[in-house]
Amino acid sequence: MKALIVANWKMNPPTFREAKALFEETKRMTGLTKGISVVVAPPAIFLRGLTGGQRKGRVAFGVQNAHFETAGSHTGEISMAQARNAKATYVIVGHAERRAMGELNGDTQKKVAAALTAQMTPILCIGEKTREANADHFNVVREQLRTALLDISENKLSKIIIAYEPVWAIGASAAIKPRDMHEMSIFIRKTIVEKFGEVGHSIRILYGGSIDATNAGDMLRNGEVKGLLVGRASANIKTMTELLRAVNEA
Ligand code: PEP
Repeated sequence: MKALIVANWKMNPPTFREAKALFEETKRMTGLTKGISVVVAPPAIFLRGLTGGQRKGRVAFGVQNAHFETAGSHTGEISMAQARNAKATYVIVGHAERRAMGELNGDTQKKVAAALTAQMTPILCIGEKTREANADHFNVVREQLRTALLDISENKLSKIIIAYEPVWAIGASAAIKPRDMHEMSIFIRKTIVEKFGEVGHSIRILYGGSIDATNAGDMLRNGEVKGLLVGRASANIKTMTELLRAVNEA
């Protein structure tokens, strides 16, 4: 299985010209690697400009968020169908920065379902805000998974990607240790297998939170993950190039 790198550009870069340059370099670097697939999730306003004229390749497109309703009075929102129409095939659901703006577990549940209906792959972000000695973060993660996957049928499960992103490690100075991610991956898989049975073993789990070229390889080798959700390091040509090189070597 190829390592999946999801490039969450967040609200960067400021101009389409820079977005195009970043995308072209990301595409070029991905083409030089063997075992990597990349999903670029640019600000939605750049999506059509970037996807136009692209042939199917190893760089796919995603959106950073989309609404669960198909249409209607939702000022400032975009629908899954609109994103799909602009050639995005992935959608990030429940990112910590969206949850901080009020997105609830119940919203993630509707969004995961809406994404599957729109033939998109939801990347469900889960993760605790803080980590306490009583290990309550496992309960937080279990509840996020339980609610978001409530209505999902067993045969749809493999179409969903889980990204574990502890909120305290996003935009921070360091990622969590690969052995802690390894432990969390086992917990996530166990939680999913308990609900869905053996098919749960096949779900893809990513790690996200302060990943760059210095820690990506270690996380992929030892964190029991099949990919990475990357924020800051993906939104800059130099750091993204270094990151893809490091992942390729891993
Ligand atoms: C993110 O936004 O999902 C993220 C992981 O950000 P960063 O890599 O900047 O910590």
